[in-house]
Amino acid sequence: MTDGGTFVMSITDSAYRCPPGPYERASMGAHYLKTNKPRSKILLLDSKETFSKQGLFRQGWEALYGDMIEWISADNDGKVAKVEAGALTAETAFGVNHKADVLNVVVPQKAGWIADRAGVTNETGWVPVKGNTFESARVPGIYVAGDATIAAPMPKSGFCATARGKVAAVAIIADLAGTEPAPASFVNTCYSLVGPDWGISVAGICYFDGGKLAGRAGSGGISPIGADAAFREAEAV
Ligand SMILES: Cc1cc2nc3c(=O)[nH]c(=O)nc-3n(C[C@H](O)[C@H](O)[C@H](O)COP(=O)(O)OP(=O)(O)OC[C@H]3O[C@@H](n4cnc5c(N)ncnc54)[C@H](O)[C@@H]3O)c2cc1C
Repeated sequence: MTDGGTFVMSITDSAYRCPPGPYERASMGAHYLKTNKPRSKILLLDSKETFSKQGLFRQGWEALYGDMIEWISADNDGKVAKVEAGALTAETAFGVNHKADVLNVVVPQKAGWIADRAGVTNETGWVPVKGNTFESARVPGIYVAGDATIAAPMPKSGFCATARGKVAAVAIIADLAGTEPAPASFVNTCYSLVGPDWGISVAGICYFDGGKLAGRAGSGGISPIGADAAFREAEAV
C-alpha cells in the first residue's frame, strides 16, 4: 500500500475474544490510512448480521472516515469461505473473490490445548462451567474463569475474566470451608476507540439465576448515540 490500497478483514461468526475488537481495529486502521494513505479502502467481510456497538461504530465511521470503511454482513455475502494467504485473497460463500493489499482473518477460536488436556472442553472447543462458581461442569475441582469458558451472556472480555476469577476464588474458599458459594454477580464495561478523540462504550451486569447466567434487566447499555464531542472525548491515562 503506497498512497492507497485495500485492507480486507474477515470476521468469524463463532465466539471470539473481544466482540468489538475487529471493529476497533478497523477504526484505528482507518485513522492511520486517512492520515497517511487517504486513497485506501477498508473492507469488512463479516460472517454475522450484526456486531457489537454497531450503531455507535457506524456513526463514528461515517463522521470520521466517510466511505473509507465498507461493512458487508453475512446476508450480503460477507461470509468468507476460503482464504489464499499467499495471493492475499478472500473468497466469499457465493464465490466473490476479494483481493487485498493487507489481509486480516479473524478465524474461529477455541479454548487452549491445556483445557482440552484437562478434559474440561466440550464439542464446541470451549469450557462449560457452573455459572455460580466457574467450576468445570465436566471435571470437579477444576475452576476456569477466562475466555475459555462458555459464559454467555457475558462476552469474552478481560473485564469479565477478572470478575469471574473473583467469583471462582470466593467459591473455592467456600468449598474448602464446607459452606455454600456466595450469590454470583458480574459486571462488564468495554470502551472502544473509533478515532483518537472519539470513544464509545458498552456495559452490562450479569448474575446467576435459577441455574443459569442471565443479564440483569434494565442494567447496562451503550453510550448515547448522539453524544457530543465533550462526552465522546477519549483521554489517555
Ligand atoms: C484485539 C483485542 C482487544 C481487546 N480489548 C479488550 C478491552 O478493551 N477490554 C477487555 O476487557 N478485554 C479486551 N480484550 C479481551 C481480553 O484480552 C481477554 O478477554 C482476556 O485477555 C482473557 O483473559 P484470559 O486469562 O482468559 O486469557 P489470555 O489473556 O489469553 O491468557 C491466557 C494465558 O494462558 C497462556 N497459556 C496458554 N496455554 C498455556 C499452556 N499450555 N501452559 C501455560 N500457559 C498457557 C497464554 O500464553 C496466555 O498468557 C481484547 C482482546 C483482543 C484480542
